[in-house]
Amino acid sequence: MKFYLGTHQPGWLARDLGVPLLVSHRRLAGRRTLPRATTGWALDSGGFTELSLHGHWRTDATAYAVAVRRYATEIGHLDWAAPQDWMTEPHVLARTGLSLHTHQHRTVTNYLRLRDLAPDLPIIPVLQGQSADDYHRCADLYERHGIDLAALPLVGVGSVCRRQHTADVERIMRSLAARALRLHGFGVKLTGLARYADTITSSDSASWSLTGRYTTGCTPTHRSESNCLRFALAWHNRVLQTLTPDTDPREPQPDPSRGHHEHPTTRPRTPTPSHPADTRPADHRPATGPHPPTGNPRTGRTCRPGRRPERPATRHR
Ligand SMILES: [Zn+2]
Repeated sequence: MKFYLGTHQPGWLARDLGVPLLVSHRRLAGRRTLPRATTGWALDSGGFTELSLHGHWRTDATAYAVAVRRYATEIGHLDWAAPQDWMTEPHVLARTGLSLHTHQHRTVTNYLRLRDLAPDLPIIPVLQGQSADDYHRCADLYERHGIDLAALPLVGVGSVCRRQHTADVERIMRSLAARALRLHGFGVKLTGLARYADTITSSDSASWSLTGRYTTGCTPTHRSESNCLRFALAWHNRVLQTLTPDTDPREPQPDPSRGHHEHPTTRPRTPTPSHPADTRPADHRPATGPHPPTGNPRTGRTCRPGRRPERPATRHR
């Protein structure tokens, strides 16, 4: 089980953190120079934000394939990339005005198109739905188009982020795993992993950043912890500890809601960011202040329970 740390700071890719990152196309598109990754990472397409804000994809498959190819070449170490899938959360359906069935069809069509355009790129298919039956119908749809899902290294499961902790999602994951699929659960974090980590190959989350928004900064230059690398790594380590059976669960765990004065000593290779302003890494030194005014993660797919994504301060980057 591999857990990707979601981040909206692409500069972290070059930091040799020893932690796999998930970064959104929304955060990389438009950058003239890209970081060189030192370890495997995954690309999110930013669909949740795109559809929530605009009700459709403004980037066509051809342009997206070109972008993914650039990231794979220039950043390197790309484990896989999400397609331009169509989420099925009720508010996303309301925003697009389309049916769940149409979202599933468009998701499959996009994958087929991307595969034709760029068969060499590690773009994964994603299953979309709400009920377990929906997800299986979506899997059937791929297979009717000749995609042998069980033969692929990874198949994403979307639209589970807000309910990843529920028995419904556990049932969905277990039934999909029974089809011998290697699954990536988008947005599956601690409470979901506790239920069904055994059924999935990988997952990702940037929920640390939302917690960090409401956590006092660790230094005067951090108004909150929503962008703090140290805070993020402490949270990632806590996830890993829940996944490692030989870790003593009674050991005190860092609690993001209480800041991170107690940093775990067992976390992966961590070039501890030093916080005196001059020595902080460039990506940890926001141009306009300690943290962007909104301070929230916009990795794109990341959902926040009960919230819609906030409008970006700048329309596009
Ligand atoms: Zn901090």
